[in-house]
Formats: sequence, structure tokens, C-alpha cells
Amino acid sequence: MGASAAYHLAQRGMRNIILLEKEDFFGQGATGRCAGGVRYQFATEINIKLSLASLPILEHFEEEIGQEINYRQCGYLFALTHEADVIKFKKNVELQHKLGVQTEWLNGDEVRRRLPLMKFQDALGGTFHQKDGLVDPNSVVMGYINAAQKMGVRTFTTAEVIGVGIRGGQVEEVQTTMGAIKTRMILNAAGPWAGQIGKMAGINIPIIPLRRQMFTTNPLTEIPIDFPFVIDFDRSLYFHREGDGLLIGMSNQNEKPGFDQRVDDDFEMINFEAALERMPLMEKAQRASHWAGLYEVTPDAHPIYGATDIKGFTICAGFSGHGFMHGPISGKLMSEYILDGKFSSVDVSMLDLKRFEEDRLIQEYNVV
Ligand SMILES: Cc1cc2nc3c(=O)[nH]c(=O)nc-3n(C[C@H](O)[C@H](O)[C@H](O)COP(=O)(O)OP(=O)(O)OC[C@H]3O[C@@H](n4cnc5c(N)ncnc54)[C@H](O)[C@@H]3O)c2cc1C
Repeated sequence: MGASAAYHLAQRGMRNIILLEKEDFFGQGATGRCAGGVRYQFATEINIKLSLASLPILEHFEEEIGQEINYRQCGYLFALTHEADVIKFKKNVELQHKLGVQTEWLNGDEVRRRLPLMKFQDALGGTFHQKDGLVDPNSVVMGYINAAQKMGVRTFTTAEVIGVGIRGGQVEEVQTTMGAIKTRMILNAAGPWAGQIGKMAGINIPIIPLRRQMFTTNPLTEIPIDFPFVIDFDRSLYFHREGDGLLIGMSNQNEKPGFDQRVDDDFEMINFEAALERMPLMEKAQRASHWAGLYEVTPDAHPIYGATDIKGFTICAGFSGHGFMHGPISGKLMSEYILDGKFSSVDVSMLDLKRFEEDRLIQEYNVV
């Protein structure tokens, strides 16, 4: 979000932009640890609209930014094993069609036919959208950062924000481990850590960090090149092709909020066994790598965009585990908000911070 916003602001002609990153390299937060999935299949109009605006930017990323990002349109296949999910997803497909997203509805046999390497005897139905797929997250981050630097954005790593100076309800400075920076405008794009930055300014931002982890396997020659991003929705268990092997992840429903990013070995075993049940081929798979990252969860699984009660303090965070794909449009939206005072590309004004106080939540169902 920070890299995309810096790029889009500079492109609109804004000067004196500083991008601060606490780690030694960019992209070490949620973005660099994410599964790289991009999809149009959501349950709310606003998330579908964000995808409709963001994914075409990724499709044309190399032309615009000059960075290849390895966009593979392998499709997302949600496999559904509960009647309640079938009912909900049929509604989702209706909404997606209304907005121009041509998701296919699959019956149980079609799910099984499309996934011959997997065991989905209990699938009641599913959805598939061919234009969903995968993109390399680090290439997107570095593409935006390199392009922003060329337009004069100053970028600093190992530069942690440790305080926010406010006078008369207006931002005055940012305190960092490399010194204080005078400014009248802050964009809090700290992902899972955005609540901490909010606290420094006395603002309550309801974003909870929640650990999620995954692992990759050694090459598995049986996995076809066009293997889709498969989601066993009930278990939040997912598989996609990664190199010549698979990337597999699953959400731990018992995970407690916190900033721990170490892999939980016990849960990895549970994940492996669930994966083996669905894909017997896993018996001969070996783990190639594993890691954990943090979801940045808001009470309604939608992001927070825009202003706060402190003048000059804006937010773009809280994407609740599906924000990488919305990074391109979100940076553009924040550039519109900061420079023009309104969101033009997509109306996200309902996703403001005030909605939590005013009970205007918009629940997303397709959270993996
Ligand atoms: C395991 C996992 C899988 C995921 N899979 C997908 C997926 O398939 N598709 C998808 O779209 N999304 C996915 N997501 C979600 C996605 O990664 C996030 O929604 C998105 O990357 C959030 O981007 P961000 O810029 O808001 O946060 P981040 O990428 O975390 O960026 C915030 C940055 O702020 C820095 N920072 C924090 N505090 C400070 C400070 N005090 N001072 C200076 N810098 C600071 C951090 O180091 C970090 O680099 C996944 C997330 C995880 C954890």
C-alpha cells in the first residue's frame, strides 16, 4: 500500500514524499509473505469493484511500470462441501455476474472432473473464474518503489516510525529511529502494524494481527501447468502451483492475535494431514520451504481508507488477508483522496474509520 501510494502520488506531481520502512528491505511485511493470489471472486460489491479496478492494473503492470510480475491466469476454484456455502456462493456468483465477472458455477461432479488429482467426494458444488490467478508480490512492491524513486520519492529502510507529533489536532511531525521529520501529512500504510501507528497518534484503529502460514513442496511432475488456485472453502485450505511444486496453506481458526511470525510446527502438521486427505500425491511430497506472516484483520474484513479525527493523518490498511491484489488501486485511491479530497476511481467512502463507531459494517464472506 505504501509503495503503491508513493508511486501514484509522485505520478500526480506531488513532491517531498518519504517512504519509511522499519525492516532492512522493502516487502518484508504481509505483502512479501503472502500467497500472491489475485481474484475477482468476492461476496461484496465493493470488493468485486476493487478487483475490477486493480487486477487490470496488474495485467498491464509491465507496460506501465517496466517491471515483469509473472501474472498467471490459472483461475481460482472454490470447492464447497456445505449446503450453506452452496447457497451463499450461488448468491455471490449472481452478484459477480451483475458486475460483469463471469464466474462459472460447477456442480460436484464438475469439481471432481476438473481436479483429477484431488479427492473431493464430498464436494456439493464450486465456482471457477479463469481470470483469477497469481502474481509475484515482491516484483510488484519493487516495481512501484523503483518507479517512485525515479520520480523523486525518497525511500528509507531500517527507519522505524516510533512517534507522531501533533499540535492543535494537526499532524506536525513523524518521529523515527533516524530522527524526526516535519510533515503535515501522514499515510499510515503499516498493514498488520497500523494499529500501533494509530496509537502513537491517539487514534483507535481496529486492526488485529493474526498469524497465517504456508509451506511449499519439492517439484511434483504430476501437477499440470494450468493447475488452478484450489480452495477447500470450509477448511480454509488452499493449494496452488509454485515453481514445479505446490504452495499449501490453511487458516488456523484457533490462532490468537499477536505479532509472532514464527511457523507453528504443530499446526503445520495439521495442515499437511488435511492436504494429504485432499491430495494423496502429497504422500511423496517433501517440504521445500515454509514461513508465516500476519493477516491485518478488521471487524468486517474490509480495509480502512481515508481520514481520521487528526488532521493530516490518513489510513490505507486493514485488508484482512486479501489486500495484495488491491494494492495497485488502493495506492491510486489514496493519491486521489490526498490530492483531490475524494475517491474517484472507485467510491470507497463507506470504508472509512468512522464506520466502526457508527455501526456501518459490510461483512465479506469469501475470506480464506
Ligand atoms: C500468509 C498470508 C497469505 C496471504 N495471501 C494473500 C493472497 O493470496 N492474496 C492477497 O491479495 N493477499 C494475501 N494476503 C494479504 C496481503 O498480504 C495483505 O493484505 C497486504 O499485503 C497488506 O499490504 P500492506 O501494505 O497493507 O501491509 P504490509 O505489506 O505488511 O506493509 C506494511 C509495511 O509497514 C512496515 N511497518 C510496520 N510498522 C512500521 C513502523 N513502525 N515504521 C516503519 N515501517 C513499519 C512493515 O514492516 C511492512 O513492510 C496474505 C497474507 C498473509 C499473511
